[in-house]
Amino acid sequence: MGMTLEQLNAADRDEFVALLDGTYEHSPWIAARAAEQRPFKTLAQLKAAMAGVVREASLDEQLGLIRAHPELAGKAMVTKRLTAESTNEQSKAGLTDCSPEEFARLQQLNAAYNARFGWPFILAVRGPRGLGLTRAQIIETFARRLENHPDFERAECLRNIHRIAEIRLNDKFGVTPVLGQQVWDWAESLAVHSDPGFKEQGQLTVTYLTEAHQACAAQLRQWMLDGGFDEANIDAVGNVVGLYRGSDPKAQRLLTGSHYDTVRNGGKYDGRLGILVPMACVRELRAQGRRLPFDLEVVGFAEEEGQRYKATFLGSSALAGHFDPAWLAQQDADGITMAEAMSAAGHAAAMPAIEALKRDASAYRGFVEVHIEQGPVLDARDLPLGVVTSINGSVRYLGEITGQASHAGTTPMGSRRDAAAAAAELVLFVEQQAAAMQDVVGTVGILNVPAGSINVIAGRCQFSLDLRATTDAARDALDGAVREALQAICQRRGLHFKLDRTMSATAAPSDPALQARWEQAVQALGLPVFRLPSGAGHDAMKLHELMPQAMLFLRGGNAGISHNPLETITADDAELCVQAFQQLLESFE
Ligand SMILES: [Zn+2]
Repeated sequence: MGMTLEQLNAADRDEFVALLDGTYEHSPWIAARAAEQRPFKTLAQLKAAMAGVVREASLDEQLGLIRAHPELAGKAMVTKRLTAESTNEQSKAGLTDCSPEEFARLQQLNAAYNARFGWPFILAVRGPRGLGLTRAQIIETFARRLENHPDFERAECLRNIHRIAEIRLNDKFGVTPVLGQQVWDWAESLAVHSDPGFKEQGQLTVTYLTEAHQACAAQLRQWMLDGGFDEANIDAVGNVVGLYRGSDPKAQRLLTGSHYDTVRNGGKYDGRLGILVPMACVRELRAQGRRLPFDLEVVGFAEEEGQRYKATFLGSSALAGHFDPAWLAQQDADGITMAEAMSAAGHAAAMPAIEALKRDASAYRGFVEVHIEQGPVLDARDLPLGVVTSINGSVRYLGEITGQASHAGTTPMGSRRDAAAAAAELVLFVEQQAAAMQDVVGTVGILNVPAGSINVIAGRCQFSLDLRATTDAARDALDGAVREALQAICQRRGLHFKLDRTMSATAAPSDPALQARWEQAVQALGLPVFRLPSGAGHDAMKLHELMPQAMLFLRGGNAGISHNPLETITADDAELCVQAFQQLLESFE
């Protein structure tokens, strides 16, 4: 029989600390301080409160907590001096069965790590699914984290400690994140399909209408049907569209979904999470024999990332009625046109069929999308969920500054017309200006001196500009300031420049009413409501052109890294995401 929140809420402070003994290794002060925040209405709230105590603690206390942990496969394990919890975890991860080579490698890593950071390496060895990482995964992670900056690595240790505590609390409470594990397992199974050239290397790449892409669509459709959707079809552009009928066929539908294509060597959750989470909700509803008062339409968008063809957001553009007919003539790297790829996949590849996919906005309440954050903000704040306020508007430029290429030895410093030095000034201006303004980001990602030489002053310097902001006004303000600065820098230095705008997208602020529903959903789980803008574009941005939209972000592990195989989530976070979606569904009359 597991522990209950009622028990914890009713206990006096000493009992409370005793009941939570072993959650945080040799650190009862965490439970003692969290006790002040009672009553807890959910386990997620208790976990967040304890993580919050550690966040607020002094640096010495944080380091003390880290040092209270044993080394992985260290002396304490060998001499059997571990706590019961640590023994269980290290043996579950198979660390008690290391080969002599693995054991030697771990000792070597332990020594190097300790020398570099001065504390033991902490890893939640039961992993994101709770089953246990393999020894190879542990050793690989150990070696990778050895390269981290000490401040970042300290924070990463604390995050792993919270994950260890989470799993220990689940054990104490007898709780299993069944729905989150389902989402996690689906994502794992879907990741089996990958394009040739990548699959062999264990990399995930699913680009528009390849064999792997079509296999993903077929798999999603089958899971939808197995899970109790009334209909699941693959439409004219390859979107997988599932429908779970509500009790009132005349009520406005709710539209949700995200994309199932990936970037090259991408992660398993980018896009896919937003299909799998509502699928888990439908499966639950069906298992309970329940109907919502409205139809729920779940779309797995065929294409968002723009990898095989230049067109991006192809799937959601079709629903918004903004599929550009010119896209059909675009060619991939092998010269296969999009129309040919569509025909080969059994689609009509004709505009009337694609135009028919446009949704009638009046039939919908709006669009909601769940997506992995793809950034470090939630992870750094120990928050599993975040409510999106706006998808950033952006503007991109390619530019070139022209000066005078001349001899690096003979040209005095005062008489140079150095294009690279001017570009360097611009880079720093962008960084400082964007940092000084609210909710904008600015990046110079490309810098190039054509035909540059070590002993020649740069005569030309090419650069890119990527400016983003939560509102169009903020984007335009940053844009104006940067262009003015470029003008001034070049004038002062006697240089010329040209600047070509290559892209401009308007911001997509969340619909206030839909955003409020997400906020209520997060609050109902006992979690703090945290609002953040989306720095990346998402399918919701396209649907925004047609109907109100609002997004929910899920924390990504590894500091939120995405478009990378290190992209990760936990089953517990996925469970919270499903629960938030269930709350959202219940919030509609
Ligand atoms: Zn995405």
